[in-house]
Formats: sequence, structure tokens, C-alpha cells
Amino acid sequence: MVGADGHRTVVRRVVAPEPPDAAFAGYVIWLGIAAEPELDVEAWPPGMDIFDAGADCLLGSPLAESAPPGHRRPGWAWFDRRRNDLLRATGCVDGDVVQHSLRSADLTASLIAELDDEAAQWPAAWRDAVRACLRRRGVTGTPVAEYVPDRLVRGRIALVGDAAHVSTPMTGRGFAVALTDAEVLADEVAKAVAEARDDAISAALRSYQDRSLGRARELVESGQRFSRSFAG
Ligand SMILES: Cc1cc2nc3c(=O)[nH]c(=O)nc-3n(C[C@H](O)[C@H](O)[C@H](O)COP(=O)(O)OP(=O)(O)OC[C@H]3O[C@@H](n4cnc5c(N)ncnc54)[C@H](O)[C@@H]3O)c2cc1C
Repeated sequence: MVGADGHRTVVRRVVAPEPPDAAFAGYVIWLGIAAEPELDVEAWPPGMDIFDAGADCLLGSPLAESAPPGHRRPGWAWFDRRRNDLLRATGCVDGDVVQHSLRSADLTASLIAELDDEAAQWPAAWRDAVRACLRRRGVTGTPVAEYVPDRLVRGRIALVGDAAHVSTPMTGRGFAVALTDAEVLADEVAKAVAEARDDAISAALRSYQDRSLGRARELVESGQRFSRSFAG
């Protein structure tokens, strides 16, 4: 059995019950993608950018850079450690565990207005991109969770991707490492099937763990260094 059911996995409860849940990292990530027609062309973002403003950090990344003028899309990710009371009041975080992202009803007019005010701290190009998304409520708010795995396998059950390990989006590598997990697991299982020994599958899963656990831990721990310096 392969548990590939994401960061709120139920399969992890069987493979690694101590502890089974990813922990809240102490901040929310706001995400949005603006569209060129919404923006003042003179304020077009120059390229990938990162801005650290203490309680906030903004990562800006122009998407579809090769698109013709008029169709480009600046994407942004705003890391915000000031909304933890809101996350708990809305049930997004319960105790130490992330339950869900903010729902559209949670994006009240006053919250949008607060974010719009706070967006003033960003350089013009990114500020305009953030505000364009806020105007049409094209924003998601997701509490960040982290999970450092001690194991990826138990018996004939293996975890891959966010079911196995959860890293802050700041690493930018969660998706790629999930794919690598699947590739390594498939490789080991294919070799086991070729061997056709009774214990071949369990041995294949242990080999998958031997090859993947270090990479998974390094991914999450590298993100935790950011999270701890950012959120304390
Ligand atoms: C806000 C945010 C931004 C991110 N940005 C980046 C980024 O820029 N770059 C990057 O590399 N990574 C990023 N990540 C991380 C990346 O999204 C994950 O690492 C990646 O999606 C993990 O893939 P996965 O298939 O393991 O899990 P998921 O993508 O979560 O997929 C799990 C799937 O399992 C399904 N599922 C769950 N339970 C069941 C069930 N019982 N039965 C059937 N299906 C079930 C879910 O519906 C879901 O479709 C980001 C994550 C977040 C939260």
C-alpha cells in the first residue's frame, strides 16, 4: 500500500504514529496571481524577488514570462506571522495541527482592508500585484505545516510526498521531492517484482526508505531553519 494522501494523511497514522500530524509552523502564507491587464505596466515586476520586512516576507515570481505582453502574470507569496489568532479563531489551526486553509467567508472586508494597508510595505510593482488580487478576493491563506519524518515505511506500507514529509513552501521543493519519492519507490518495487522472492516487497520498501529518508529530512529541516528565524 502506498500512502500518497497529502499533508493531512491518514496512512501516516499507521506508518509513523509518533507523532502522526504535521505541526503548525507559526505563520500563514497568502498566495495570489495577478494578471497584466490589472496592473500599471510601468510598475511591472522586474523578475524573481524576495523582501524581508520582519513580521512579513514577500516572494514575488513573474509567471508565464515568455507570454506576449498583455498576458503576463506576476505570482506572489506573502509569509505573514501576525494572523495566528485569526487562524485559531477560524479553526484553521487547532492546537498544534493545521486543519484547513482560510475559507472565502473568512476573508472579510476588514481583513482585506488590513492586508491592503499592510501591502504598502512592498515595492510598487509587487504592492500593485498584491492589491489587484485583494480587490477581487483572488487570494488564498494557508497556515504552514511541517513534518520531519523518522520513517517512511512500515511493513508493506510506504508513504510518499506530503504524506511522508511536509515542508514550508519557502523551500520551493515539496513537489519535486514528492515526485522523486514516487520514482525511487517505483524503481525499488520494479526490482523486487523481478526478483519474485517472498519478502521482496518489504525489502524493496526498506530500500526506498534507505534511499529517501535523508533527502526528506533535509528538505523539511532546511525549511525549518527559515520558519524558526521567521516565526520564532
Ligand atoms: C500554499 C502552498 C504552496 C506551495 N508551493 C510550492 C512550490 O512553490 N513548489 C513546490 O515544489 N511545492 C510547493 N508546495 C508543496 C507542494 O504543494 C506539495 O509538496 C505537493 O503538492 C505534494 O504532493 P502530494 O501528491 O504528496 O500531496 P497533495 O498534492 O496534497 O496530493 C494529495 C492528494 O491526495 C488526495 N487525498 C487525500 N486523502 C485521500 C483519500 N482518503 N482518498 C483519496 N484521495 C485522497 C487529496 O485530495 C490530494 O489530491 C506548496 C504547498 C502549499 C500548501
